Amino acid sequence: MKNLVRIILEGAFGNLKKILFASDRVTDMEMRENILQGKIKPKDKVAIDACIGCSGCANVCPTCAITMVDLESPKELMEGWTKDQVPKLDSEKCVFCYYCHDFCPVYALFGEKATIHPNDVGEVELDLEENMNKPFKISEDKLAFISQYLSDKNVLKNNNTENKLEKIHKFSK
Ligand code: SF4
Ligand code: SF4
Repeated sequence: MKNLVRIILEGAFGNLKKILFASDRVTDMEMRENILQGKIKPKDKVAIDACIGCSGCANVCPTCAITMVDLESPKELMEGWTKDQVPKLDSEKCVFCYYCHDFCPVYALFGEKATIHPNDVGEVELDLEENMNKPFKISEDKLAFISQYLSDKNVLKNNNTENKLEKIHKFSK
């Protein structure tokens, strides 16, 4: 019983000290200083190397927070598909709907980690050419939805999707 009383009193004292002297805010204050001085680097939102440059995220974003920027050295990933742009995400315009992430074909079509994320994309290691030739892991209705936003449908070509594409075109008319 004595111990319980001691714990309660010590806890109450600790809380009072925090309230009066903000003793547990030292780290927060340091963090705030660092943010104000621009010392904290924002996390990467796009895995530029693994992105296939399809513009889908930019097309699907409801707030136009994503713009496609030209690459200095475009790269052919497969016949008829050259990656010449990558997305740039403006966090000030982002409403964190996650459409870009959920839509990204790298995730939605190939079942890999998406190459865009509104908070932190993390590490995405991918063999781009190999990935582009992988079979899709997606239902036809989802494929139809995604297809609407692809600026260039060549990304769908290597996957025996000609028939599916015909259906998609009918579906979207
Ligand atoms: S999460 Fe942000 S950047 Fe991504 S689609 Fe939504 S608003 Fe656009
Ligand atoms: S949808 Fe994914 S693969 Fe396509 S441009 Fe955006 S991040 Fe890159």
